[in-house]
Amino acid sequence: MSFAGKVAFVTGASRGIGRAIAVDFARQGADVALVARDAAMLEETAEASRVARAATHVHSIVADVSDAAAVESAVNSTIERLGRVDFAVANAGQAVDGLLVRMKPDDLERALAVNLKSAFYLCASVAKPMMRQRSGSIVLVSSIVGLTGNAGQAGYAAAKAGLLGLAKSVAKELGSRNVRVNAVAPGLIETAMTESLSEEARAHFLASIPLGRAGTPEDVSGVVTFLCSDAARYVTGQTLVIDGGFLM
Ligand code: NAP
Repeated sequence: MSFAGKVAFVTGASRGIGRAIAVDFARQGADVALVARDAAMLEETAEASRVARAATHVHSIVADVSDAAAVESAVNSTIERLGRVDFAVANAGQAVDGLLVRMKPDDLERALAVNLKSAFYLCASVAKPMMRQRSGSIVLVSSIVGLTGNAGQAGYAAAKAGLLGLAKSVAKELGSRNVRVNAVAPGLIETAMTESLSEEARAHFLASIPLGRAGTPEDVSGVVTFLCSDAARYVTGQTLVIDGGFLM
């Protein structure tokens, strides 16, 4: 297994894409640290990780990633419990929708805090341990709306675009210590986040996806684990779009 002896830290691991990423890491031999606010759902991911590989060590941390101190403490407790952090995936996110002229400052703050600042806090928290061990891979989960923009999602899209600048900057800062930083930009993926999409919007999306279907969380997790694998050892500062060909 490619990740035997490695430790993966995944935020937003209680459901959806984050859960698939955690389970994929476990299946491939890594121990996993799981972060989200819902303790019961985190336990379900922990159980799924042990089903994927019985020997998986799991450290579950109930935390809000918009709190810098909570993110730092989650990383520190992972190093105490699991010994190291090799991979860090900033996946936690929340769609905060609203037209520009109607968006309240508090909504914008939430969009930036949960989707962008949280990733900054994670990069800052894992940078020193990864630099010390002279290896590491960080993946930031952005979105195609960070590349294209989207009417009604100015705050969320700004946060997701910000992640791309963050990934490149940190890739440049940490590259000399063999720490790689990349982003992924999923398109339409079937999760709780997209459940409420109107039939009209879904049909519009589907008609424009060359592969003819929405993505699954596992379509994303395979790319994230690839970026953390040795096969991607010379890849840093990149954004991989995972959208069935929607943008090209
Ligand atoms: P999801 O099913 O709603 O899952 C979101 C995850 O983030 C949950 O585990 C949630 O856990 C966690 N989370 C949200 N706010 C948090 C906070 N303040 N602190 C800690 N954890 C928090 O959505 P998803 O589709 O899997 O989304 C995962 C990532 O992919 C997000 O960054 C999203 O923006 C991105 N993305 C999704 C799509 C898509 O079509 N689904 C497309 C592009 C990008 P708790 O509620 O338990 O805290």
